[in-house]
Amino acid sequence: MGKRYLMQNYAQLPLVVARGEGARVWDAEGRCYLDFVGGLAVNSVGHCHPRVVAAVREQVEQLIHCSNLYWFESPVELARELALFSGLDRSFFCNSGAEANEAAIKLARRYGYERGKENPEIITFTHSFHGRTLGTLAATGQEKFSQGFTPLPAGFRHVPFNDVGALWEAVTPDTVAVLVEPVQGEGGVYPATGEFMNALAELRDKDGVLLIFDEVQCGLGRTGKFFAFEHYGVRPDILTLAKSLGGGLPIGAAVAGEEVARAFRPGTHGSTFGGNPVACAAARAVLKVLQEEGLVERAAKTGAYFKKRLESLRKKFPCIREVRGVGLMLGMELDRPGQSLVSLCQERGLLVNCTAEKVIRFLPPLVIGKEDVDQALEIVEQALEVFLADAC
Ligand code: PMP
Repeated sequence: MGKRYLMQNYAQLPLVVARGEGARVWDAEGRCYLDFVGGLAVNSVGHCHPRVVAAVREQVEQLIHCSNLYWFESPVELARELALFSGLDRSFFCNSGAEANEAAIKLARRYGYERGKENPEIITFTHSFHGRTLGTLAATGQEKFSQGFTPLPAGFRHVPFNDVGALWEAVTPDTVAVLVEPVQGEGGVYPATGEFMNALAELRDKDGVLLIFDEVQCGLGRTGKFFAFEHYGVRPDILTLAKSLGGGLPIGAAVAGEEVARAFRPGTHGSTFGGNPVACAAARAVLKVLQEEGLVERAAKTGAYFKKRLESLRKKFPCIREVRGVGLMLGMELDRPGQSLVSLCQERGLLVNCTAEKVIRFLPPLVIGKEDVDQALEIVEQALEVFLADAC
């Protein structure tokens, strides 16, 4: 393959994925892999879900895209459905998680300006990840992603994650918003503590600071609740979604309450492809499948079983330091770099990912069952034996 024609932005593994169905993908030679990384949380309803395929096909045959200067049915209906699910009011559609966060940042800034804050500041957290555009890199709390790309936009203040005292100290009269992942993904699968989320709610109530929840990775059923914020009983003012929303098609959304959403008016923000009918039709099908197939409850149940089995594995392998996460967003932290374990799993037919150097991350489609978990863990166990033997 002509790989040299692509810029080298990803450390790709030696696998050409040719086909996908449910929780499995096949390479060009017909070899099957259990996909526990799911395009990094993209494939929550499984690969090529028939209802997503049908919705996309139907839309493509009618209209692919025209211009956001006109109305289309599928984005309007999708926005209505997201409002119903989230308790918020209005959506802005774009094409990725980074763009959804950019929109949220811009919305919060304008909201602040309109209330007299001329130097609006947004608090974000260490080990957070919000995207790779310059604005979202500035928000991201991991310097390694912005090395060589400075200067970054100003107006962000990074605070230690889950540290209530540091949060209160960081607030200034310029603070307009807090941007947080309720469960950090790229940072190594760290859920926010209840105490921390309560402190965020208090900050909103006391100082009128907007809460932006980045649920690009942890949202839409992955953690065993429809939105991760439901675990805490704390509502966002702005919610960002992407990844699994389109069932594999590119779509992002920034969803906000009426008063905040009003800070955007015609001409303030936009995206040529944002809210295009095909991606929105796919997203509507994804929401239907999540609901009608009970995938959120299934993620909670299968996730609890998976986590319990990972805990048992930890007892057998002391190189596993900790098992973290909720629902089907799980991390297994090792006492050493884990990339070679990822390759060993792949050779045995299981796709997983390593993040924050030492954390093996599991983000399988929510359609998996216990048998899939058992099969995956059998492979992880075999791979760990070789991983440890290689280290000796
Ligand atoms: N926010 C979070 C929490 C993410 O995990 C990611 C992607 N890993 C993004 C934002 C960026 O999404 P995208 O790659 O679609 O721009």
